[in-house]
Amino acid sequence: MSEPSTATAALPRAYQDDALLRLIADSVPALMAYYELPRLQCRFANQGYAAYNGHSTQSILGLTVEQAIGRRAWEAIRPHVDRCMRGERVKYTREQTLPSGEIRMIEVNLIPHFEGQAGPVGAFVLINDITERWRAESMVRQSEERMRKFSEATDEAIVFHRDGIIIDGNEALTRLTGYPLHEVLGLSIFSFIHPEYRSIALEYTRSGSEHPYEVAITHKDGHNIPVEVVGKTMPQLHGDYRIVVARDISVRKKVEEREAFLALHDALTELPNRRHLMEQLERQIAQAQQANRHLAVLFIDLDHFKTVNDSLGHHAGDQLLCEVAHRFTRCVRSADIVARLGGDEFVIVLTDIHHADEAALVADKLLQAMQSVFPLEHVPVTVSPSIGISLFPEDGTRGDVLLRCADAAMYHAKESGRGNRQFFQPGMDGSAMQVLQQERQLREAIATGAFVLHYQPQVSLHDGSLQALEALVRWQHPERGLVGPDDFIGFAESRGLITPIGRWVMLEACRQLKAWQDQGLALVPVSVNLSALEFRQRDMATEVAAVLRQTGLEPRFLEVELTETVLMQDAEQVLLTLQALRTLGVGVSIDDFGTGYSSLNYLKRYPLNKLKIDRSFVTDIPDNADDVAIVTAIVQMGHSLQLRTVAEGVETPAQQELLRQLGCDMVQGFLVSRPLDAQQTLEWLSRPQSAVTSDAPGRGQ
Ligand code: C2E
Ligand code: CA
Ligand code: CA
Repeated sequence: MSEPSTATAALPRAYQDDALLRLIADSVPALMAYYELPRLQCRFANQGYAAYNGHSTQSILGLTVEQAIGRRAWEAIRPHVDRCMRGERVKYTREQTLPSGEIRMIEVNLIPHFEGQAGPVGAFVLINDITERWRAESMVRQSEERMRKFSEATDEAIVFHRDGIIIDGNEALTRLTGYPLHEVLGLSIFSFIHPEYRSIALEYTRSGSEHPYEVAITHKDGHNIPVEVVGKTMPQLHGDYRIVVARDISVRKKVEEREAFLALHDALTELPNRRHLMEQLERQIAQAQQANRHLAVLFIDLDHFKTVNDSLGHHAGDQLLCEVAHRFTRCVRSADIVARLGGDEFVIVLTDIHHADEAALVADKLLQAMQSVFPLEHVPVTVSPSIGISLFPEDGTRGDVLLRCADAAMYHAKESGRGNRQFFQPGMDGSAMQVLQQERQLREAIATGAFVLHYQPQVSLHDGSLQALEALVRWQHPERGLVGPDDFIGFAESRGLITPIGRWVMLEACRQLKAWQDQGLALVPVSVNLSALEFRQRDMATEVAAVLRQTGLEPRFLEVELTETVLMQDAEQVLLTLQALRTLGVGVSIDDFGTGYSSLNYLKRYPLNKLKIDRSFVTDIPDNADDVAIVTAIVQMGHSLQLRTVAEGVETPAQQELLRQLGCDMVQGFLVSRPLDAQQTLEWLSRPQSAVTSDAPGRGQ
């Protein structure tokens, strides 16, 4: 406005001033008026003010305030006006309802006008419409209110800070830190964070990161609490502030710690597990190598632990293992390692010895410690350990080698009467260890029932009808998959483990057949193999009767397969058992016939039903004339003794055709079907049965 416009300049001076004043007054967004005392009559109003109150700038002149703004408004503002008239500058806000009904928020300034020393002669009124600002502010207020309610409702500690200085917090913050809010306001948020984590927290705050991170805070009582923290920067006019939400993660941390512990320890005894042992052992070997020290590895197996477990129950077994772990731990130095490999196997590593004698002394101490009775659930129990010892560096320089050597030595300790210790000797070769390992695995398989039965049909050569199903056991080995019986039955016999396996097979075969028969299938016998040893060791007839009772299978639907060796055993006992089985109605077959030394005498003497011609005679027929002659003779002999004959291992239509011509009664082999698992057998049984003929393509796969 350095140069007045020409139009204004042309006017008389007084008018110019008035006009200019009005021009300015009407141009500002505020509402303005001047009221003159004593009656507070309007002397001036800009257009906005006049219009706001429903007047023109002319019509409002001379009106009192009350007349100008109406009675209600006047009464509302009167106290403010009174204060102004006493000479005070007054500022207030109030709602104003427009003639249109719209509600506005206005800010009113009343400024007294003085002339000389006496009281005011009038008052300026200056009104700003602050509706927009007011709305914005009330929204902030509401959202702050919401925030407060929200932050009080949560269990997570919420703290507001500006540049690290705490400006507010919720109740959960008080609970988490132990400090009442007023004690923390104004303090640095970082002073609550454990020194170890301060730099992380600073970094997150400085960078404004909004990702969660973990720190520990220190409670008022001094203990540390792990928390997960998320910070959010809230932009604000007067400088950003940050909301930090902190969640107590003690429980999660404990769980994580427990999991980490269990990954390396045995849950029962809390001793290091195999993995942890091997890691520590390797570390000890490295250190011993550097320091020229010797180590000893003691492999310990409890003798007859299984008896305790079986007779007193798993709970007692667990108790015993824990107590054994204690006693072992007490016998060694804290730098030594006591670990449990699983089951009743423990390993102790002596981390600093000078001579083998020292290892022997410790082993003797362990044996001694086990001599006193374990009071298990009021039953006094004693166990003796067998201990094998290997030495570093004499027996090996690797952890796994030392462990294997100690294991082998332990096996020898067991062999030489149990309850003693043996040092590893080069002669204790790997096979002993393998045997031990396999025995261990087989015991485990028995304990967990890791066996399945497969079934192979025997069919009639006359009409192809199903005559029997042979049950063949398999071991579901954790590493080797399905293991066939040839790979473990003999071994099981030699380790005294055939009885539980045989019992399971008998029960499972009867149970399964009965289940199929309940579905109207497999109305033929199931045939179960019994090893000679089983037959000798057990009262088969009584056991079979019990299984039949238990499963509800009719005796005529069970057959047992015995090898010729059984017939050559203690003749009287075998005869009695076979007669008892016959009385029950259970069938008896002679398996692998032709490979043993059974004479015709045996065959005549015992009550038998079937002869199974060994596969070795079937394989090369019809080409091999000798085998054809043998098979012919067996079939003839069978007939003359009134025994039915079954040819095993029939794989080709030619073999089958010859067997039919020779008068053999039944075939079993891949040509008809491979042994099938229970599900496949069910499917096989459910198919329409087709006759076996010489040109049958074979139902096996
Ligand atoms: P096995 O009693 O002579 O059983 C027949 C064996 O010959 C089975 O082997 C079967 O898979 C196999 N086989 C059947 N048809 C053919 C064929 O056409 N060609 C050929 N190459 N092989 C055929 P698997 O199942 O491996 O059983 C081996 C042996 O293990 C059995 O010989 C039996 O003596 C024994 N065994 C099986 N299950 C048990 C059981 O539960 N208890 C006992 N004590 N011994 C069992
Ligand atoms: Ca058999
Ligand atoms: Ca056989």
